[in-house]
Parts: sequence; C-alpha cells; structure tokens
Amino acid sequence: VYAGHAAIALALKARAPQLPIATLVLACYGPDWAELVFGLFQSRAEMRELTHTIPVVVVGAALAALLFAVVFDRASAWYVGAAWLSHWPADFVTAQKPLMHPQQLAGFDLYQLPAADFVVEAGLVALCCLVYARAFVRTRRQGWWLAAAAAGLIGLQALVDFGIAYTQGRNGPSLALRQRQPHLTVGTVDRVRMPLALLRRTPTVS
Ligand SMILES: [Zn+2]
Repeated sequence: VYAGHAAIALALKARAPQLPIATLVLACYGPDWAELVFGLFQSRAEMRELTHTIPVVVVGAALAALLFAVVFDRASAWYVGAAWLSHWPADFVTAQKPLMHPQQLAGFDLYQLPAADFVVEAGLVALCCLVYARAFVRTRRQGWWLAAAAAGLIGLQALVDFGIAYTQGRNGPSLALRQRQPHLTVGTVDRVRMPLALLRRTPTVS
C-alpha cells in the first residue's frame, strides 16, 4: 500500500480529532520509516523484510505508542499504536509481507495486478475521505480542500501503479508463501519464460 496508509490516517483522525494528522500519517507509515532509517546502516532490502515481520511491527507500534504517551498524551497513544499496526494488514493486501520470520513471505500481492491495486487503493482513499468528511467537513470550502487531498492521493497512487505496471513481471496474486508457490518468481528473466512452465528453471535447461 502506498497512498492507502495516508488515507487510513485520515479515517483514524475522525476517531481521534485531538491528534495532529501529521502524527497519524507518520505512525501509519511507521514500518516504512523504520526500514528507511535502519536501511541506512544495513542493506535496505534486508531491513524491508525485518521491519515488516509481525513481531517487529507489534514492538514498533508499542514503542511508538509508549513514546507518544510519555512525551505528549497518554489517552491518545492507543491511536498511534493502532496506526502503526494498520500498516501490516494494509501491506499484506497489496504485497507479500513476512509473517514471523523475514523469509516467510505471504500476501495477496495485488501489485502483480496494478490496475486492481489502483482500484483497491483509490477505493480505500475515497472511503477514508468520506469518514473524514462526516467528522469534520462543515462548509463547501472544506469539502473542496478534502476533495483536492483525495484527488492528490489517488493521482499519486495512479503514478505508482503505472510505474509498477512497467517494471514488474507478472505473477497471479497468491496467498501461498513465496517458497511454496509452484513456479514463476518475480524477475526480469522470468518474464520471458513460458507462462505455463510447470517446473522451476534449472541450470540444465535454458
Ligand atoms: Zn510498508
């Protein structure tokens, strides 16, 4: 999920109006920030998997909530933790994310079908903006601002999905762990393989 995380922050804001939207947006992208920061010291790809395992996401959410409770406000800290936790299920829908172990990847992997990913994420943005509108929008002007924000997020998602469509090979979405999937893995070489090949390519077959 790309734009969808920001949309979830908007929906959470409706439940916790006292929290600044920036705090919620930061928390909703929490595991990605962790990946970015730790990726400066270790390999980014390695940190991508590690920071998105379920135990690390839970610990990250707890630490973020604790930090917020100590520095700012105890009553709202739950929402910061919830925002951080929301990252994993959202990513599970659109990508393959690790379960307990960095190598244990699973997920619906909608990025393999960028058009479907766009529909799901744009729908999520629209839904979350409606939740936000019901809570906060009172004037026509506020409505236009929110519509502009929604259009911005959907436009951003369209760009991302357009990019994915051009750079990725095509697998079907699958809930199976990556190592249990029957054939075809993502990669430039696999794109030219026979779509119905039943076995993984071996060094003796070229
Ligand atoms: Zn992520």
